[in-house]
Amino acid sequence: MQREVATTVRVKLHALTERKADLLSREYDAFQTAVQGDDANLYSATKQQASKVRKQKNPRRDTEQPVVLRNDVLGVEYDEDTVLSSWWVKIPVYDPERGRGNSIWCPAIVPEKDEPLVHEGKVRDSELVRRDDGWYVHLVVKKRYKVREKYDDVLAIDMGARWIATSVALSTRETTFYGKDVRRVREHYKQLRKSIGKAKVRQGKQVLHRIGNTESRKVDDCLHKISRTIVDDAVARNAVIAMGDLGGIREGNDKGGHFNDKLHKMPFAKLLSYIEYKAHREGIEVVLVDEAYTSQTCNRCAEKGVRNTQGRFRCPHCGLDDNADKNGATNIGKRVLGKFSKPLSNTGAVLTRPETQVIVEPENSPDAVDLTLSEGTPRV
Ligand SMILES: [Zn+2]
Repeated sequence: MQREVATTVRVKLHALTERKADLLSREYDAFQTAVQGDDANLYSATKQQASKVRKQKNPRRDTEQPVVLRNDVLGVEYDEDTVLSSWWVKIPVYDPERGRGNSIWCPAIVPEKDEPLVHEGKVRDSELVRRDDGWYVHLVVKKRYKVREKYDDVLAIDMGARWIATSVALSTRETTFYGKDVRRVREHYKQLRKSIGKAKVRQGKQVLHRIGNTESRKVDDCLHKISRTIVDDAVARNAVIAMGDLGGIREGNDKGGHFNDKLHKMPFAKLLSYIEYKAHREGIEVVLVDEAYTSQTCNRCAEKGVRNTQGRFRCPHCGLDDNADKNGATNIGKRVLGKFSKPLSNTGAVLTRPETQVIVEPENSPDAVDLTLSEGTPRV
């Protein structure tokens, strides 16, 4: 089985001549004008992308949009003999001196860990991004990975408002709760926004926009750590990862569905996609299951139970009293087990120990061990 994975590699442009830096700035600013529907001189392929972004996102005037670079006009080359830089990125720009499109080769730094991927993979449409410390190209590289076909366990993930992710290893019922950092970051910025709103800060819109960016970058860091830890755990257990299908909602494909309300508050789609691509890179399959009723169903007797506001799940039929997120995750995992009695039609994956299906809830399983990682924790 093979899975194609798209990875974003942050490539920093460096040692730019003044002329190249000017051309990039010009192109970037012209792109901002074009996404607002105003006329601007851009490289023709990039101009098309600007009108696409305008149609799809209808971005607000106080936001900055990365310049979308179409893969057929973008270039990446490696040349270890060049003194200035081993990596070079060809960026299409409009050249006002010539009055037409042109391309500039920019010296670039590809992170060492990503070099093999950039060598082997296929570069897709990417983005030019401006940051305080300079220019970056967020290079999207696609590569096919082989995923394992046999697994010893299921690592089931429930995504929720209290904990962004709760994982349960079905064979032992070991449970891990993730998301303390995400909550802390979001709470901090919520307070900050409130105080800025009250103080009527000058240029409040720009300030809010800037802190909004910082917040999403910090949340993003948390999501990367969480997904890394979950995938490492799955690798160590040789477990297939099971997650709730967000009703077809993926990043950039926001079509509604019962999850939509929660989705706007918590970055579930992002976390799912991070877990998915990290898992596939490690050769681990991710199975999406219909998660309807997984939070209301008792994982021991399959009857309907009640989830209270303190995050407990209680079953009036068999008396189960368990952490609600753990109960939800266990149900998600059990749905996969149902499918795993035979190879999954869409994946071909097989569970090597089908007897895992008849495991009875061990009542002495350690509950609610908070392994959420704080910043700087060396585990990830
Ligand atoms: Zn029950």
